[in-house]
Amino acid sequence: MDKKDYDAIVVGSGPNGLAAAILLQQNGLSVLLIEGKREIGGGLSSRELTLPGFIHDTCSAIHPLAAGSPFFTSLPLEAHGLQFVYPAIDAAHPFDDGRAAFLMRSVQETAKGLNDEAYLTFMQPLVKDWPRTIVDVLAPLHFPKSPLAMARFGIKALGSASHLVERFSTKESRGLWAGMSAHAMQSLKKCATSAIGLVLLAAGHTQGWPVAVGGSYTIARALTSYFVSLGGRIETGLYINSLDQLPSAKAILLDITPKQLLSIAGYRFSSFYKSQLERFRYGMGIFKIDWALDEPIPFKSISCRQSGTVHLGNTFEEIEAAEQMVWNGKHPEKPFVILAQQSLFDHTRAPAGKHTGWAYCHVPNGSTLDMTKAIEQQVERFAPGFRERILAKHIMNTEEMEAENPNYIGGDINGGAFDLDQLFARPALRFSPYRTSAKGIYICSSSTPPGGGVHGMCGYHAAKRVLKDIFPTVYKKNEI
Ligand SMILES: Cc1cc2nc3c(=O)[nH]c(=O)nc-3n(C[C@H](O)[C@H](O)[C@H](O)COP(=O)(O)OP(=O)(O)OC[C@H]3O[C@@H](n4cnc5c(N)ncnc54)[C@H](O)[C@@H]3O)c2cc1C
Repeated sequence: MDKKDYDAIVVGSGPNGLAAAILLQQNGLSVLLIEGKREIGGGLSSRELTLPGFIHDTCSAIHPLAAGSPFFTSLPLEAHGLQFVYPAIDAAHPFDDGRAAFLMRSVQETAKGLNDEAYLTFMQPLVKDWPRTIVDVLAPLHFPKSPLAMARFGIKALGSASHLVERFSTKESRGLWAGMSAHAMQSLKKCATSAIGLVLLAAGHTQGWPVAVGGSYTIARALTSYFVSLGGRIETGLYINSLDQLPSAKAILLDITPKQLLSIAGYRFSSFYKSQLERFRYGMGIFKIDWALDEPIPFKSISCRQSGTVHLGNTFEEIEAAEQMVWNGKHPEKPFVILAQQSLFDHTRAPAGKHTGWAYCHVPNGSTLDMTKAIEQQVERFAPGFRERILAKHIMNTEEMEAENPNYIGGDINGGAFDLDQLFARPALRFSPYRTSAKGIYICSSSTPPGGGVHGMCGYHAAKRVLKDIFPTVYKKNEI
């Protein structure tokens, strides 16, 4: 092979780009990481959006997946400044009667709070298996390392949330289940919507749902600092429109989605692969609000006031109907809202005594409708007096989300619809989803398995594939 400037170049510094760059650099390759924005991190970004002194997570906020990521937990991130703080309650789910369901570390205590013995019977075996199952779940399609545990998970995960809810018997457990599975950003009647709900519950019962002290950006900062300590190089503020802009390298890994991949590298692909990428489907978008608050959100329920995350949408039936409307291209009057209150647990987020609020709801892909009123009405419904506590707010519709990060096509924060067809065959049905049809060019974003979320496992598996394909001696020698 001719002499190249780098062994590998990674374009895009989201958690997956960073994970890929780190694994390659750890294995002794020379790696250049390029980011189009001035700041590293992609979905790991935090800054003052409203008023001075209020630090908002512009994208991801709550980190059960980062805290449990098989790759991230193998890295010395604490030594590079990362600190997680764990709320007493991972997630709460209020109802109109003022009561709330909640998710805690203990399955027993959670089931007791839900008043549902069935929850305990259902979740306990999954939680026991989880430390083994997670390695197989956060991976491309393969023969599982723990086949029995994976089979137990898979049988439940492949069903729809609407079907699986029948396993729960109280309003509380059914509501909690709706909030968890609605993170799938699909009609809850679709197959495999249970997968996301189960992952989030199991993660809560094993390592918790933390927030990063100082903001989600500190996760990117720790990953970057570690990458640089290994000798990795970074260039920011360089937006790549064509592969021809890049220095030469044996491997190029792109932390971008199929639409961008086609535009940047399409001229290098086979017509079959191009047609596969053209058929890739994006999912629902989001409308997001960040608030600077005078005081904490005055939830009626005490558990909501002690929880990092609050799911607003009342009963299973109400959330199912709201998500169905979005799936059908409509905007619900009472949308399902995912809300985080980081400053209750991390005092660096706001001036003394003041607070931040972070929330979003699902909307049809590409929607520009202002959902501020609908979201604030949902908060007010469970926390009367909320509106009077707002000092300032910052909103982003799907177009503004995409301007924030070009990977959020039409406001889709998962890098593509996460339905059964695109669960493993993302971005296309291939022997390895990370390989493109062009030699040496790989995709490593959340548009590959295992999909959206801050876990870095798409990047990890893409980098592993690069080592296997292009640097087999290193791969074998280091027993990756
Ligand atoms: C509002 C919101 C809330 C979320 N909440 C959570 C949460 O609480 N917990 C969780 O685990 N996940 C959450 N997520 C999802 C999570 O942030 C993403 O799944 C994750 O960031 C995907 O990582 P990635 O590396 O694939 O891509 P990204 O993080 O999107 O990074 C891609 C990077 O590539 C860069 N890039 C793109 N094109 C180019 C180009 N042509 N040239 C150079 N650079 C380029 C972008 O600027 C970006 O930095 C949330 C996302 C959003 C938007």
